[in-house]
Amino acid sequence: MLADYHTHHYRCGHAEGTLADYVEAAIAAGLDEIGLSDHSPIYHLGNNPHPRPSTAMSQHELPNYVREMLDVRERYAGRITVRIGVESDYILGWDEHYRNLWRTYPLDYVIGSVHWLGSWNIFDHRLPADRSADDVYDEYLRTTQAAARSGAYDIIGHLDCLKTRGHIPDLSITPLLEETVRVIGECGLVVELNTSGWRKSCADCYPRAELLALCHHYGVPVTLSSDAHNPTQVAYAFDRAIALLKEIGYREIATFERRKRRMVSLG
Ligand SMILES: [Zn+2]
Ligand SMILES: [Zn+2]
Repeated sequence: MLADYHTHHYRCGHAEGTLADYVEAAIAAGLDEIGLSDHSPIYHLGNNPHPRPSTAMSQHELPNYVREMLDVRERYAGRITVRIGVESDYILGWDEHYRNLWRTYPLDYVIGSVHWLGSWNIFDHRLPADRSADDVYDEYLRTTQAAARSGAYDIIGHLDCLKTRGHIPDLSITPLLEETVRVIGECGLVVELNTSGWRKSCADCYPRAELLALCHHYGVPVTLSSDAHNPTQVAYAFDRAIALLKEIGYREIATFERRKRRMVSLG
């Protein structure tokens, strides 16, 4: 069984292609399931419903996105299983907002990703003013734990994504990192093996192998995810990902339907 649970499309303003393009790419790649999971709209940067058009869709566009996913799922029934989801921001203290928002729609799963610490985006090359890398990393991990506890999500997105711009000062397994993995497991969440880091400057998957092994140690299941921003990236480096998962000891991956998890055998 092979499934790619993390894909984007044109609505977020920085990805190419339509929802159907990603489903077609998944069929061509021989996948059994494709998950659609574009970026959630941004809610925490004031009253503007579309504050960063090249980062995420407008708040007004969300119902259209869900409607089109339902339509695409219907259209491809019998050819490939389409799961409908979203990659949602998590902002510290916004638990109720996201929990309620994602209950409004008939989604199969929600990926919770920490992209923002307040108004600072983790892909910014510069650290926020007056903050050290240690401070930022600490806040990132505590925010990730809060996301896991929020009850708004099924999957924690790209667990060590903060390393993309070199903002993780210590890549060893620190006590707070270990606690974070334990919390994710205790809350019944899943992490994703996100292959997109292999095509970025950090040249490493999320989470890195050592951290993925720690997830396995704490019994945290995984989904497979390309984080495709172009249909050609669907199932990106999945051979390498599957080999890594098996080497670590994973024999199954998680799939979701209407926010219920089902484990299926890998490969
Ligand atoms: Zn994106
Ligand atoms: Zn993301």
